[in-house]
Amino acid sequence: MWNRCRIFILMGILTAGCTGSVHQQSPTSTAPPAVKNPPNIILILADDLGIGDTGRYGSEVIRTPHIDRLANRGVLFSQAYVSHPVCSPSRAGLMTGQYQQRHGWEFNPAGRDAAQGMATDPPTLANMLQAAGYATGMVGKWHLGQQNPHHPLNRGFESFFGVLHGGALFIDPNAAGVESMGSDNLAGYARVPIYRQQRRVTEAQYLTDAFTREAVQFIQQQHARPFFLYLSHTTPHTPLQATAKYLDRYRHIEDKATRIYAAMVASLDDSVGAVVQALRDGGQLDNTLIVFSSDNGCAGYLNGACSNAPFAGFKRYHQEGGIRVPLIVSWPQALPMHRRFEAPVSLLDLWATFAAAAKSTSRTPDSVNLLPYLHQEAQQETQSSAVPHDYLYWRSGPTIAIRDARWKLIRYNRWPQELADNDSAGRLLPPEGGWPSGSPHGQLTLLYDLQQDPGETRNLANQHPAVVQRLLQRHLQWSTSLTSPLLPAIRSSRASMHGETVQLLF
Ligand code: CA
Repeated sequence: MWNRCRIFILMGILTAGCTGSVHQQSPTSTAPPAVKNPPNIILILADDLGIGDTGRYGSEVIRTPHIDRLANRGVLFSQAYVSHPVCSPSRAGLMTGQYQQRHGWEFNPAGRDAAQGMATDPPTLANMLQAAGYATGMVGKWHLGQQNPHHPLNRGFESFFGVLHGGALFIDPNAAGVESMGSDNLAGYARVPIYRQQRRVTEAQYLTDAFTREAVQFIQQQHARPFFLYLSHTTPHTPLQATAKYLDRYRHIEDKATRIYAAMVASLDDSVGAVVQALRDGGQLDNTLIVFSSDNGCAGYLNGACSNAPFAGFKRYHQEGGIRVPLIVSWPQALPMHRRFEAPVSLLDLWATFAAAAKSTSRTPDSVNLLPYLHQEAQQETQSSAVPHDYLYWRSGPTIAIRDARWKLIRYNRWPQELADNDSAGRLLPPEGGWPSGSPHGQLTLLYDLQQDPGETRNLANQHPAVVQRLLQRHLQWSTSLTSPLLPAIRSSRASMHGETVQLLF
């Protein structure tokens, strides 16, 4: 598992360090400007937000003035990726700064999270920053386990307000001015508890507004130390629900799902605005590192209410629409403003980036400190070929994907024709013991030239067999450093692509 890595104790945290697993080239930048004090760090994560659904990423439907201004005050990444196209494994990678398959959280727990959770031995971002002297707080969605050992308060966070599940009801659907979709699911979402620390509470406010309220209160506390706030919104994940305050901005949209989704993104945008305003009011904006991103692409089952444009695929897919996400990093005191960063990066890189900002030497096998690259970009040393990653990797059982600067390879299992039983959400019902990792029906191999065809419309696998072999070999090499999944895969749906039908596993 740690074949090329050393495990060592650093500042009280069990940390993995590697000599050869990260294949990035070193940037030739000068050192960042000296920052006297470590910055506050705020990670704002949206849930299932499509990359095409914010203004700065090209939405012509949804207005996001606060998110856009955050991008103006920092760096916008055009090729940022999550390590999985669904919620829980993506968050496991993000929270541990390493590919989640290194510690077995390869699939969505899908109803088993009441008993199971992500492994507790890899430290979290909160563990790492707490050891570096930070006050740590979390508001919002956890989705990495519900039992005591997995609870955020036992994973490095000193305060918690939010939900342990994958989603929750936003507000009473019968409240005045509220519009909701998916009435079949609302009762289930209504049973999801909301906690303050480990005490169940009743929340009357629209949940996104409640999370914003709690985040602002956390910022306004007089912290004796720099703070780390993980603001993990459940919006715009289902259930689609919005209040009149946000719906009023989109009354002109006739389609109900599209209108509610746009209103939910408006509530997310207002949350970003409130966080920035609280920092500004407290004189902390310049020395706060704010990150805004999403845990995966928007969902195809919303039937067009959201957008991953200009990319193909959705949540659950390993096409760009499932895994390429918005990423904005703002830190006025130390980073350039009005910048775009064009090379591929991973949300796994936030670990090393936060560690460097916090003056922690903690690193993981997969995470690259992005700060030197951003300064390099600021100095327009564009003749340098240095990039954070030569390769990025994905695995979800038999589904594999890998990309380099130009090419992306994906392999899916072909659809087993005899399987036809779907659950109410359109997912395949799994066999006893979960889906096998083997491929009795063969696999579909896809090769895309992302530089010429970012929309992944042309499969070039047959024209470039040497590229296919090189990427398969590289992926196999990476896979040997991983461990077996802690849980079998039980979630699956089918998808049509290039005239064939494949099985998505997540
Ligand atoms: Ca999600």
